[in-house]
Amino acid sequence: MQREAFAALDRADPLAPLRERFLLPPGVINLDGNSLGSLPRSTAARVSRVIEKEWGEGLITSWNRHDWIGMPQRVGDKIARLVGADAGEVVVTESTSINLFKVLAVALQMRAGRRAIVSEAENFPTDLYMAEGLTKLLGQDHMLRLVPAHRLPHALDADTAVLMLTQVNFRTGALHDMAALTAAAHAAGALAIWDLSHSAGAMPVDLNGARADFAVGCGYKYLNGGPGAPAFVYAAARHQGQAAQPLYGWLGHADPFEFAASYRPAEGIRQYVVSTPSILALAALEEGVDLLLQADLGELRAKSQALTEEFIALVEAHCAGLGLTLVTPRDPARRGSQVSFAHEQSYAVMQALIARGIVGDFRAPDLLRFGFSPLYIRHVDVWDAVHALRDVLATGAWQRPEFQSRAAVT
Ligand SMILES: *Cc1c(COP(=O)(O)O)cnc(C)c1O
Repeated sequence: MQREAFAALDRADPLAPLRERFLLPPGVINLDGNSLGSLPRSTAARVSRVIEKEWGEGLITSWNRHDWIGMPQRVGDKIARLVGADAGEVVVTESTSINLFKVLAVALQMRAGRRAIVSEAENFPTDLYMAEGLTKLLGQDHMLRLVPAHRLPHALDADTAVLMLTQVNFRTGALHDMAALTAAAHAAGALAIWDLSHSAGAMPVDLNGARADFAVGCGYKYLNGGPGAPAFVYAAARHQGQAAQPLYGWLGHADPFEFAASYRPAEGIRQYVVSTPSILALAALEEGVDLLLQADLGELRAKSQALTEEFIALVEAHCAGLGLTLVTPRDPARRGSQVSFAHEQSYAVMQALIARGIVGDFRAPDLLRFGFSPLYIRHVDVWDAVHALRDVLATGAWQRPEFQSRAAVT
């Protein structure tokens, strides 16, 4: 297939009009939307309006007049529609790590007497660190038990309080079967917590269909909320009001403006809020979420699978013998919206690609990682990225000295 065939796919793409709603720098292809999503065109004007009108002129009255105080729940209700939750089950607040700490603590209270948090050894490190820190805080009785992905169902036992997993693996892009693993956790009497950082906004997610107990997710990846965007947390309606998350912040109090000396948890999802929300960041996130809500999530998933299929096929056709090994599942039903290849010189290869405007990333120890955010990545982008990759590898362009030194953020 030639480049023109890919351009034809773009002309037939039902999501193509949504790409126009992003401000994409010319000559750059963002294959790292799974790490930092691109900028919606509407975001800058929205944030300026919040700054100049709502903050500059409205001052404190904007908490009521512009319903700043309701934003965590309003944007949460919108994200609920992307992840198969109902209104009142999701709130936007703090970060993914902090939210994970909250739901882990709630789940452990709900399964008092059971000691283990079970997770995958390859889970995203901050998830494992938060669990490690919490088990230490709770004392020697609690433990984090890590197993390889294929051993997960066997690791669930009568001592398991919670199964904590990320739906799509950040390194390999492997996609877990959320419904099956949640059912396995429940069969063992445990609860299931899902991190949707690499799935929300990239594919339909069905938390309630899977009977998930709790979930968290990231605002700055496929939701396009901007660097450091606030995260979201989901608690199934049936669990709300049972156990309180332990970070007793005033905005999770039943009546914050009572200014009572002791804490009384809010009954609904608002109990998961700790602190005053960053309104500028929430406004930016809402622009990203609003754009996603205009997409048909089935079409989004179909396009994502087509892009990753094309990428694998083109790399294998054009970069054969150049040292790349696919580490992402070959079955499109078993992967998220990214493709990773191992290469001995992956760091330098990625730097050389970035210098050509193909922005992916390097993940230690040896992965080239490419994310395909289906809202704004085109089929021709796949073609162009593979041809740049082939050129970098075939010419040895990655060997140049400027591509060798490691920056702080990879
Ligand atoms: C990106 C990501 C995070 C990010 O956590 P922060 O607290 O926002 O820094 C957490 N977990 C997973 C699985 C991620 O992919």
